[in-house]
Amino acid sequence: MPELPEVETIVGDLAPLLTGARIIRVQVWDPRLVRFPGAEDFNRRLTGRIIRTMTRRGKYVVVELDQGLTWLVHLRMTGRLLTRLEPGERHQRAQFTLDNGVNLSYCDLRRFGDMWAFWPGEEEHLGGFQTLGPEPLGEEYNPDWLLAAFAGRKAAVKALLLNQSIVAGLGNIYADEALFLAGIHPARSGCSLTAEECGTLAAAVKTVIAGAISSRGTTFRDYRSGLGTVGNYQQRLQVYGRAGEPCFSCGETLERMRIGGRTSVFCPRCQLQVRQAGEI
Ligand SMILES: [Zn+2]
Repeated sequence: MPELPEVETIVGDLAPLLTGARIIRVQVWDPRLVRFPGAEDFNRRLTGRIIRTMTRRGKYVVVELDQGLTWLVHLRMTGRLLTRLEPGERHQRAQFTLDNGVNLSYCDLRRFGDMWAFWPGEEEHLGGFQTLGPEPLGEEYNPDWLLAAFAGRKAAVKALLLNQSIVAGLGNIYADEALFLAGIHPARSGCSLTAEECGTLAAAVKTVIAGAISSRGTTFRDYRSGLGTVGNYQQRLQVYGRAGEPCFSCGETLERMRIGGRTSVFCPRCQLQVRQAGEI
């Protein structure tokens, strides 16, 4: 699933190709792709618009168009935005033809991503985009923010890191990697973390995300950047996808457990499950 570093890479590749161009044709072959407004209105709104900027917020692609219209894309599990179709591609769900000769394709193997086209004042239709927390590389995301966000939260710290209103853009891969780097067990309750541990974790998230961006993301199955190329952070993964293999740091066998419906991989020696006073 594309997380922040993968979406950042896609946007970085595509923005120079799309910015300044006019959308002259919109074809949506799967109307379920459009969350708001309906597919017909979506076509009508986007056709003829000029692409002013293309940026990222959390895991969302944010395209600002002329006249104040915003086009939002979430790739979900296997969505891809491509300017070149691979031979034999059979999962194209939409295509956007630009007046500069670029054809932007949206392909999705399995689950359907989501798109929105909204005017100012229609933000109530945007769901989770409205409640995104701070960007992990921004100043607003810091030890004090984490400490406050975790206060009174009994949920596992792993689940809290996946909560997009606490920090935007993290998914299963980078949450597991950050917890390993911080030496924090994924099942610890959020409110059990000390101020010092929140500081260590905030820094670990920044380190992992920045490293993954510089590696152009992690390549699993269907992820491709906007130019159809792949990232190489998978060569730097410490725990994700490595359950049953030895910890690179201490040699202990990495374990997996289900937390909040997702698989977490961790080192039982490097990430101790500290019991708080009063707990059994
Ligand atoms: Zn270890």
